[in-house]
Amino acid sequence: MAQYLAIKADHPDSLLFYRMGDFYELFFQDAEIAAASLDIALTKRGKHEGEDIPMCGVPVHSAEGYLLRLIRKGHRVAVAEQTESPAEAKKRGHKSVVARDVVRLVTPGTITEDSLLDARSHNFLVAVARAGKDYALAWLDMSTGEFFSSPAGFEDIATHLSRLHPGEILVSDRWMDEEGMEDLFTDWGSQLTPLPSVRFDSQNGEKRLKDLFEVSALDAFGQFSRSELAACGALVDYVELTQKGKFPMIKPPLQQASGDVMAIDAATRRNLELTRTMGGDRQGSLLATLDRTITGAGARRLAADIASPLTRPADIHYRLEMTDYFFADDARRETLRDILRRCPDMERALTRITLGRGGPRDLAAIRDALAETANLRACLTDASDVPGIDHAADRLGFHAELVDELFRALSPELPLQARDGGFIAREYRPELDELKTLRDESRRHIANLQAKYAEMTKVPSLKVKHNNVLGYFIEVTPRFADNMGEDFIHRQTMANAIRYSTVELGELEDKISRAADRALALELELYDILVGRVTEWGRNILQAAEAMAALDVAASHAEIAKERNYCRPEVDDSLQFHIEGGRHPVVEAALEASGDGTFVANSCSLGGDNRLWLLTGPNMAGKSTFLRQNALITVMAQMGAYVPAVRAHIGIVDRLFSRVGAADDLARGRSTFMVEMVETASILNQAGERALVILDEIGRGTATFDGLSIAWATVENLHDINRCRGLFATHYHELTVLSTKLGSLSNHSMKVREWKGDVIFLHEVGEGSADRSYGIQVAKLAGLPKAVIKRAESVLSHLEENGQNAKTNRIANDLPLFASVVEETPEPEAIAIPSEAETRLRGVDVDDMTPRDALALLYELKGLL
Ligand code: ADP
Repeated sequence: MAQYLAIKADHPDSLLFYRMGDFYELFFQDAEIAAASLDIALTKRGKHEGEDIPMCGVPVHSAEGYLLRLIRKGHRVAVAEQTESPAEAKKRGHKSVVARDVVRLVTPGTITEDSLLDARSHNFLVAVARAGKDYALAWLDMSTGEFFSSPAGFEDIATHLSRLHPGEILVSDRWMDEEGMEDLFTDWGSQLTPLPSVRFDSQNGEKRLKDLFEVSALDAFGQFSRSELAACGALVDYVELTQKGKFPMIKPPLQQASGDVMAIDAATRRNLELTRTMGGDRQGSLLATLDRTITGAGARRLAADIASPLTRPADIHYRLEMTDYFFADDARRETLRDILRRCPDMERALTRITLGRGGPRDLAAIRDALAETANLRACLTDASDVPGIDHAADRLGFHAELVDELFRALSPELPLQARDGGFIAREYRPELDELKTLRDESRRHIANLQAKYAEMTKVPSLKVKHNNVLGYFIEVTPRFADNMGEDFIHRQTMANAIRYSTVELGELEDKISRAADRALALELELYDILVGRVTEWGRNILQAAEAMAALDVAASHAEIAKERNYCRPEVDDSLQFHIEGGRHPVVEAALEASGDGTFVANSCSLGGDNRLWLLTGPNMAGKSTFLRQNALITVMAQMGAYVPAVRAHIGIVDRLFSRVGAADDLARGRSTFMVEMVETASILNQAGERALVILDEIGRGTATFDGLSIAWATVENLHDINRCRGLFATHYHELTVLSTKLGSLSNHSMKVREWKGDVIFLHEVGEGSADRSYGIQVAKLAGLPKAVIKRAESVLSHLEENGQNAKTNRIANDLPLFASVVEETPEPEAIAIPSEAETRLRGVDVDDMTPRDALALLYELKGLL
């Protein structure tokens, strides 16, 4: 218990997994938390200061699953292993307590096990740092070694975080008390790890990077600001802290300037459902619809690309050319994809190996993937015309020597853990084969002994057996005890058996165990040598893995483009936006899958003196779909993919905004309308002429006239001040008059057809504004009761007759409320609720008033309104 408490004191914020034999045990409060989180039994063991000690435990062999559940629930776990065997402890003079030490802290951002990670997503550990007034982020996927840094304005931090979707975020604890910080991190509660601010020291950061990459200056990797160094340093520091000094293979940090990728804030990402749907699922997102990648690394790369579309035409062309290369040649694409199917995830295997957490199967994974590099290269013929392909072919590298070594070294069947032995192939080391032969021969000798002794003693039922306590022994039933001569040394008497050994058996057993021990030791030695060679080759392995991922993604773009008939977009530095026959990739795929009809393609042309479109039309006519499809096509084009359109010409978009009116954000405790306004404000403040803004029914979260006025002013601002390209869907038809005043705004509407009082949605975007909103027809489609529909129709016609200003209380008075319900009643009675002002007026005798009384009454009446 003293040892436990000492270790626990060093890790107060983690649940301590304390290794005891075949279990990890948890005690005290840790046990209570873990038992509740894992739904396992809470028991007691011994007493501490007179109180029972709560305890629970999980078996070591199935600990991973439990770890995952704890991490998912926001806990951190410290794993304390036994660092010596009981025999070693005894030698040291400690009779019962073996030494233990924390070998690893398991946190959401530093996990490496395949079973704990999603093979198809990155798991980023992010550090946010500040130096003076500058902020920066650094992020690392520890399981693959990818490492990035980027300077960031304070206002961009949230956007970066939503893009990276980190598993864990490191921040200085000093920040958490500062104003404004709380808001920044509210979405990331359980991922947040505050660290002492000294860990964010830029000088220390610089030193750490230099040490890690063994360079005397960092210039070769880029010019890093102080805040970037602080962020990178904090990351490296944290890896060392959690891995207890062991380092995975980490690539030098790749710098991302803030304008290199399209800025897409959290609300826009959610809204467009780029990598997950509003409900949080991958299924139904743009990513899931486009993903035709084969390998885990390819899928991770695709997800990262969707989250960070590019902003430089040259970079985008580079990728489009790669997509083209596979689009143009189906056979080539098929061959490549077939080869990729045979490539295991070597990035993650390498990380486990370098952290000492790997096993023989990880070596085999690396071998098998590297073995395919030659085949991959062979299928990249004529690559010299396509720089991206040429570069990838180059980076695939040549690994014959290592591959050959691993093929010779590893057995066909491999155990999960090296410590069990039995993974080195025959003929790799003659010495090892000899030991194994010796071991196996001795075993055979023992098997032969059984026959020999049975014959000698005339006991046909005599058996040679083995158990862990006695080792090898000879067993006969008690009635044959007298048959056993002097050679047989008595070991044990049981109710129905007597056990013996002989000198000969003992010697053979010794031989077996010595040979087996030496064989295992030799295998482990060979394992370490192989691990050393793989680690030494690590950078080449990572390069090859990166090249494979890039090829996988390009081929995936080509595959989906063929499958769904996408086109290559034209992307340049202009401010144009012309999409001919555009489709919504996700809705189109869903319609096709469900057989509910075909998607109606729509064109969109913004730019020049027609930058803003005001889109009207009834609900359900397809406004949101049209708005989003144009944003998604932009994202796809700028990530280097083909797009669902007949033709697309897009001038670079540097910031993308998409907002939908009235999305509740109860988690943040803001009213719907407040959210809408905060988000609209951020657009009006940030959108420049390169932005693309998509606003869907902004202003509907408040009273009609407020909403209309805000929408009105917003459109004017977008037109005159932001001067960006944009699509604005609204149900305020009044806004359409703006097109006469604002030169670059034009009206468009969703076409519908009326048929016998019903509406039919054509899902077609046409010129001009919608004449009606068809709300009642839509309500009818939705199955509102007939009576309500009828009543709504009469209210509507009354409103239309009396103009927009008709007061609703007049409707209540003038139109019979239940007219449509009680159709049989000949003269339905109107239920008129007189207003207070009305009641007061009726009671006044005008002739009896002085001018002064009249004035007082007027004030009173006004007060009643
Ligand atoms: P609105 O925003 O006008 O209320 P939505 O964009 O939500 O309408 O579209 C309603 C439904 O109509 C969608 O769920 C989709 O199934 C269908 N839809 C929308 N646009 C199209 C289209 N272009 N082709 C076919 N179906 C469409």
